[in-house]
Amino acid sequence: MTSCIFCKIIAKGEIPSTEVYEDDNVYAFLDNSPSSIGHTLVVPKKHYENLFDIPDAELGILGARVKKVARAVKDALKADGINISMNNGRAAGQVVFHAHIHIIPRFNDDIFSHGKERKQYRDGEMVEIASKIRKSF
Ligand code: AMP
Ligand code: ZN
Repeated sequence: MTSCIFCKIIAKGEIPSTEVYEDDNVYAFLDNSPSSIGHTLVVPKKHYENLFDIPDAELGILGARVKKVARAVKDALKADGINISMNNGRAAGQVVFHAHIHIIPRFNDDIFSHGKERKQYRDGEMVEIASKIRKSF
């Protein structure tokens, strides 16, 4: 889909991203306005708008990839827990209409409200964190 920002990111052309994982089915990269440091998006390479458009057979693969990426994010960030979420539809807070799963590192003592407060990476930190996650597969 030519107008879709995530399709453009997956195509690795005009919109850059900080890659965490890639295979034939999914592309994973750091959210650039993260709820917590290491917040990662797992995106099916095929353009589907949301959960309801993804064929069941592909959902199985996506679920397994989310687990694999979440494990690496958890290990790399030494997170105490992980939130996995998916916004489906504008009313549910979906802003980018290419299906994606949020993987959000959580810590025992963090103060957190997903969707409201976002963090900012310092210069170079995104590259550093993504590299740490890539080494944790
Ligand atoms: P959602 O509200 O579930 O549609 O989430 C879309 C997410 O994509 C938000 O958390 C944004 O911060 C993130 N996002 C949007 N554009 C980019 C981008 N160019 N690079 C990385 N993350 C992005
Ligand atoms: Zn797309």
